[in-house]
Amino acid sequence: MGESFRKTSEEKVLRDPVHRYIHISYEVIWNLLNARWFQRLHRIRQLGGAFVVYPTACHTRFSHSIGVYEITRRMVSEIPEIRDSLNEREKITVMAAALLHDVGHAPYSHAFERILNLSHEDYTCRIIEEDEEIRSILEAASPGLAEDTADVIRHRSRNPLLSRLISGQLDADRMDYLLRDAYFTGTTYGEFDMERIFRTMRVINAMPVIKESGIYAVENYVMARYHSYWQVYYHPGARSYETMLFSLFKRLRNLHEKNAAPSVIPEFLPLLEGRELSLPEYFALDECTCSYAFMKLQSCGDPIASDLAERLLNRKLFDYMDASQENIAHVRACLSQSGFDPDYYLTEDDVMQSVYVPYTGEKDNAVWIRVHGGEIRELSDSSFIVSSLVRGKPLKDKRIYFPKEIRSLL
Ligand code: ZN
Repeated sequence: MGESFRKTSEEKVLRDPVHRYIHISYEVIWNLLNARWFQRLHRIRQLGGAFVVYPTACHTRFSHSIGVYEITRRMVSEIPEIRDSLNEREKITVMAAALLHDVGHAPYSHAFERILNLSHEDYTCRIIEEDEEIRSILEAASPGLAEDTADVIRHRSRNPLLSRLISGQLDADRMDYLLRDAYFTGTTYGEFDMERIFRTMRVINAMPVIKESGIYAVENYVMARYHSYWQVYYHPGARSYETMLFSLFKRLRNLHEKNAAPSVIPEFLPLLEGRELSLPEYFALDECTCSYAFMKLQSCGDPIASDLAERLLNRKLFDYMDASQENIAHVRACLSQSGFDPDYYLTEDDVMQSVYVPYTGEKDNAVWIRVHGGEIRELSDSSFIVSSLVRGKPLKDKRIYFPKEIRSLL
């Protein structure tokens, strides 16, 4: 290859409460971090509506992204079999992909993806390949690097190990968000022993595998995921907030169809038209724009939009109950009786979690354990705990949400 990548004049060291220090010594990484699309991640929180339940869960996609970068940097420089199997360009490519893997994130985490009906991965790859600033930073470091970085995120990399390090079932992305979300919510459920996983990670046929002696750390990681999902990600309070967001946009869209949408926030217009957003239009949508929009909408003249905006700003969360047919009919009747339009004030949400998905024909989607003697087994074949979790039914939770005001009628 013969390429050599420019280093920063001195190593940049950022402080971080999860990893203590984040080390950056390549210019290309430093330049990406300073690009405007990456700086936008300061304006998008990591956990959407979870802050209404966990008051300090206000950490951002920016901090998570540099955390994923740091875990990846450590993997490619400290785990001997990974370090020795990659050349410098591959290391830079996977570190850049780690840093940028969420650059196309919409506001409020995944809530907006449902509203916009888009996938943040698609926008991430578009930004990497089409945004002038990001693309030119990558291309200046090495021709073809923009496409190669996007290919790691799309799982189309020439070397599949690169994608597997940042996105699989035991990867830098998940490791960072579990640790970071545990720290910033104050829940200890998400903690696990990452150092032990590092120490026992090996590579066989471009696949990360864990030595059998590391299996307890991996079980701990799977349990951390299980607890975090139900305690944090799927917390009914956070989901209540997100269903209210959904209702507000539904209302704005319906008003738009009748040419009656409040024009206070022009940034929302492309979104209400329901078409694919251009990159500049997408860039304008962040949580600052949304908060400002909610402030303005409070006095927009439409009683439903202004009420929902006011609820979002002041944490007047919807209450919830199980989504049985009986409950739905009863809540619907009570809402109509109290003057609430059930189209916007009765929301449904169902979530399902598979703690760990065993091997289904795609090797990327499993965790592999190298047992004593050298044989490679899939995690659920090697761990009693994981196999018990996998054998059970996937956990489901289906709820309806409605204003607390009708509680006394129920
Ligand atoms: Zn991520």
